[in-house]
Amino acid sequence: MAKLSSRGNLTNLPEKTGGNKSLGRIIAIANQKGGVGKTTTAVNLGASLAIAEKRTLVVDSDPQSNASSGLGVELDPEKPDLYDCLVDGASIADAIRTSVHFPMLDMVPARRDLAGAELELIDRVQRERVLRVALDSVRDMYDYILIDSPPSLGLLTLNALVAADTVLIPIQCEFYALEGLSQLLNTVRIVQRNMNRKLGIEGVLLTMYDSRLNLSKQVKGEAEEYFGAKVFKTWIPRNVRLAEAPSFGQPIALYDVLSTGARGYLSLAAEIVRKDERKQASVA
Ligand code: ATP
Ligand code: MG
Repeated sequence: MAKLSSRGNLTNLPEKTGGNKSLGRIIAIANQKGGVGKTTTAVNLGASLAIAEKRTLVVDSDPQSNASSGLGVELDPEKPDLYDCLVDGASIADAIRTSVHFPMLDMVPARRDLAGAELELIDRVQRERVLRVALDSVRDMYDYILIDSPPSLGLLTLNALVAADTVLIPIQCEFYALEGLSQLLNTVRIVQRNMNRKLGIEGVLLTMYDSRLNLSKQVKGEAEEYFGAKVFKTWIPRNVRLAEAPSFGQPIALYDVLSTGARGYLSLAAEIVRKDERKQASVA
């Protein structure tokens, strides 16, 4: 693919600011444990924020590209994707697919080659800052940028943590739910110390919660003991509709808006937006 200018063609992107200053908050969704609900959260929190009229960009930074397929975004050989942005210097603005299902929802998709990016970036100076630099040019166009990351603590997750203002940690309500979290928190501390002093914890999200099971309540109790107020008040129920929706390339709010899963993610978006509005009001 031809090398594109680093700023790209920002004029291609629709004007969504409506004159209001955007929040420009970047949230990395991370947990090196596989299958805990990172992608489901990126897709459905993204869609729910867009429904709440927040300009939202979902960035798929996982070579499995499940967020891309979950949102029904197909690869276009004419357009760059995240791999081209990270490895070949294509501009993120050119990689953005606009109005994905909702006018306020945009996405940067991934393809399998992204797995090679970790190796290809290895000799790059400041290889952990590539995504941060790439997102800089579009940050002001959005209220929320959500980054889906792979189940590892490799260079792609590191790039997501360095680019982000906060990290959202989904944990699945299952045996060993908290196992491995100390490794993730240790990585967060290293990033805070050396690469991104401002990185904070957005919150810990309980996923696949089943209120009939003692185990779910137990995991919730342990998470609250460990993370205190950082645990979101909203938890996401185990809901088969959430697992079905990606095969239709739709967020749950389109696939089945009345499902408990849809309600869960809409209420998570409301919780995050309310917190930000309170923060803004206290600064003003
Ligand atoms: P990976 O680490 O492989 O990237 P992940 O952390 O992104 O996985 P998901 O892909 O979001 O996890 O979810 C794992 C599986 O569980 C998927 O099949 C998804 O559809 C399903 N799932 C996620 N959340 C729920 C839920 N609340 N209820 C039922 N199924 C769910
Ligand atoms: Mg995933």
